[in-house]
Amino acid sequence: MNDRPNAQVVMAKCSKKRLSYGMRVEEKERKTWHVTWAFPISDKRARAEKYENTKIEGSFVLDDTYKGCPYCGMSGFFSCYKCGKISCWDGAQTVTCAHCDTVSDIGGTISELDVGGDL
Ligand SMILES: [Zn+2]
Ligand SMILES: [Zn+2]
Repeated sequence: MNDRPNAQVVMAKCSKKRLSYGMRVEEKERKTWHVTWAFPISDKRARAEKYENTKIEGSFVLDDTYKGCPYCGMSGFFSCYKCGKISCWDGAQTVTCAHCDTVSDIGGTISELDVGGDL
């Protein structure tokens, strides 16, 4: 038995400010990750903490406690189909990736997050 929460930090970027933040996610049910809170973090710090190397699979739900992006407060997020990285999302149909500037339409849900790679 292990009742320690299985929690990870997923790196993301604010679409408006282009600054990095970490989203803490917790696996509350099997393969269901609850996004609990987000905090500002520098790319350097994220690298030092190895937050970029975590790979998690499953679906994501926003926890009731989640307050949104630490920079602009938007509670949504999307992952870019091109680079796979996460940016905060204001609910618009067309989005621009904060990492690689790819413009895409929102479709489907995030089913797998690869948290590796450099930001
Ligand atoms: Zn934001
Ligand atoms: Zn991208």
